[in-house]
Amino acid sequence: KRELTVDASSTEHAEQIVAAVKAIPDVKVLKISDRTFDLHRQGKISIESRIPLASQSDLAMAYTPGVGRICKAIADEPEKVFSLTIKNNTVAIVTDGSAVLGLGNLGPEAALPVMEGKAMLFKEFAGVDAFPICLATQDTEAIIATVKNIAPVFGGVNLEDISAPRCFEVERRLREELDIPVFHDDQHGTAIVSLAALINALKFTAKSIEAVKIVINGAGAAGIAIAYLLKKAGAQDIWLCDSKGILSKKRDDLNPEKQVFAVEASGNLADAMKGADVFLGVSVPGVLTPEMVKTMAKDPIVFAMANPIPEIQPELIDSDVAVVATGRSDYPNQINNVLAFPGLFRGALDCRAKVLTDNMYLEAAKAIASLITPPSLARDNIVPSVFDSRVATAVASAVQFAARKDGVARQ
Ligand code: NAP
Ligand code: MG
Repeated sequence: KRELTVDASSTEHAEQIVAAVKAIPDVKVLKISDRTFDLHRQGKISIESRIPLASQSDLAMAYTPGVGRICKAIADEPEKVFSLTIKNNTVAIVTDGSAVLGLGNLGPEAALPVMEGKAMLFKEFAGVDAFPICLATQDTEAIIATVKNIAPVFGGVNLEDISAPRCFEVERRLREELDIPVFHDDQHGTAIVSLAALINALKFTAKSIEAVKIVINGAGAAGIAIAYLLKKAGAQDIWLCDSKGILSKKRDDLNPEKQVFAVEASGNLADAMKGADVFLGVSVPGVLTPEMVKTMAKDPIVFAMANPIPEIQPELIDSDVAVVATGRSDYPNQINNVLAFPGLFRGALDCRAKVLTDNMYLEAAKAIASLITPPSLARDNIVPSVFDSRVATAVASAVQFAARKDGVARQ
């Protein structure tokens, strides 16, 4: 007859805790409340008016007839849509629900809580109004057409959780065909933050990006984008692996994105790891063994970013590994995309960028890395905390600077 409260706030174990409590003899579970479900009731975001609507005159200005003059002004001079509407500060978060978190193809409705959460992050960290758009199609052409048709409202498009390899074509086409920034976060957000962490890990180990051998395990959305950005940053010796091993020129099963990075060598991950300075995992849990890590070069760097379970548990890694990072918040060095996308869009919106360039990504990565300066740079401190309020501002100004330099800023 006594009450027991179990705090199952550790999401990972909530279901196990409930099952364990139910299994205690003589315990009858009367009620289960879950704080995570509680906070999702009715959704996590809402739209609010920015100006009062208290009188007839307010009404006549905000809506018809007054608003008619604003419409005509924009019709006469389309650029004015940026200064007279929400466009300048609004981003569409577009998904087809085909690769939701690490959960797979759950469809558009099940993707909505993630996109709402993403909208919260945009607002919290950079003051950007972002709105979830979950599409009831997974057809590449239909996605492209829909995003183009809704683009007038938005100053930017964040593509999210669209599976590879379709995501490459969707993003490429929208970048070409729209005149607002289009960004696939699972690709470039990951690449920016991985590069930021790598810049500092290399600084810590006194190695240079031009000289290191880098193995990227996973050649999907994240792996391919990381490879591109590292190459832009000067990396010269990059080996990618997918579920079948090294992306080798000898293979005939590589899609066009993978072919770009094919190397002469062939074999499996263990073969690739020999003498590697850096391992970047964006693949699946548990595929990197302690034995493979032992074959790496001196002072190796291991980023095991498969979520929620990394390629190798950090506990299994010897202490002579110089730097370890994961995608998780319960270990040091969390590689989290939220360090990049809010500030990146803040900067792009503020200068009304037409497109995002590689230099904007590079400068964003450098800006994140630059927030950890030598006395505080340590094996357990290579990236700033996601709650470090300097991050979004630093990223935004670096991105604006690069946009102006590349001639893609409209103002
Ligand atoms: P994705 O597009 O589905 O790509 C997954 C890749 O992993 C594919 O290339 C796949 O190979 C490869 N793979 C599967 N099993 C493998 C194995 N046994 N050995 C080597 N490679 C294997 O997924 P994604 O969006 O790139 O994400 C990949 C992982 O990274 C996920 O766990 C995700 O949570 C994580 N991630 C973390 C962060 C972060 O921490 N900030 C950011 C983004 C992604 P095939 O091409 O042969 O199928
Ligand atoms: Mg995502």
